[in-house]
Amino acid sequence: MAAVTGRFAPSPSGRMHLGNLLCSLLAWLSAKQDGGRVVLRIEDLDAERCPRKFADLLEADLRWLGLVWDEGGSDGGPNGPYYQSERSEIYETYFKRLTERGLIYPCFCSRSQLHAASAPHRSDGTPVYSGACRDLSPEEVRRRSAQRPPAWRLRVGEETVSFTDGHLGRYEESLPEDCGDFVVRRGDGVFAYQLAVVVDDALMGVTQVVRGADLLQSTPRQLYLYKLLGLPAPEFYHLPLLLAPDGRRLSKRDGDVSLETLQSRFTAQEVVGRLAYAAHLLEKPEPVAAAELVKSFSWEKVPKEDILLPRGLFD
Ligand code: GLU
Repeated sequence: MAAVTGRFAPSPSGRMHLGNLLCSLLAWLSAKQDGGRVVLRIEDLDAERCPRKFADLLEADLRWLGLVWDEGGSDGGPNGPYYQSERSEIYETYFKRLTERGLIYPCFCSRSQLHAASAPHRSDGTPVYSGACRDLSPEEVRRRSAQRPPAWRLRVGEETVSFTDGHLGRYEESLPEDCGDFVVRRGDGVFAYQLAVVVDDALMGVTQVVRGADLLQSTPRQLYLYKLLGLPAPEFYHLPLLLAPDGRRLSKRDGDVSLETLQSRFTAQEVVGRLAYAAHLLEKPEPVAAAELVKSFSWEKVPKEDILLPRGLFD
């Protein structure tokens, strides 16, 4: 069997936090323990929120941690560009294929219409689309387009998508009931994450996706797109979320866990060792180089439930 190609797919909207670091560490270990390679793709679709300076810092931070990628980012490579902000033409091609098959339609619903109290919500809080704009007449589309540029949705079929996550096991979702028609291009013309990530992982030869469990619910939509576009789907490993000791979700706004702060207090090996300890890869929070963890890495050691950061671990 060919060695895996994993990837880092960070959105550089700020400095990385511990959750992002853990995700990068596990993605790297998972690929490397298999003798595989890692691609770095910068997910800066939202170019305004993701200035290049953050992408550059992110590369420096990954290097500092010893999580060196084999292709991509500012190093470039055969499947570039590796910045999503430079890949719109590629997304356009795939968007067109879906459009030509009559699978895409314009949606004029406002945020408040989408979030109307009556709409069923998925467990991650996003509303299941009601299909309100599914069958608008051409005249209606023309009339509404003059008022606001529409988002573009993919018509989902009566399909249940199931897959086996490499870490979490079987996961299943009914597309019409649990998700509904979903956005593949926003009203401002920017392609949506769901479409971009599928096209990119496929064209960049990624065979293994390691990412946070907060994206588990996106996976059926992405598998559906792989199928519609005839692209090869990778295997997926969703890792538990890393929570602050009080159970709060970590966020980039939490300066206390950003790399900037960590670097002022710890060596890279201390950060890697403590993270590996939090993820049950080490029995003690002792300093270690990422490369030293490759041999003993196993997904079986990683918890399946959210991980509470032990109090004081990064103080
Ligand atoms: N860019 C996303 C993030 O930083 C990850 C997307 C993915 O792994 O599919 O949260």
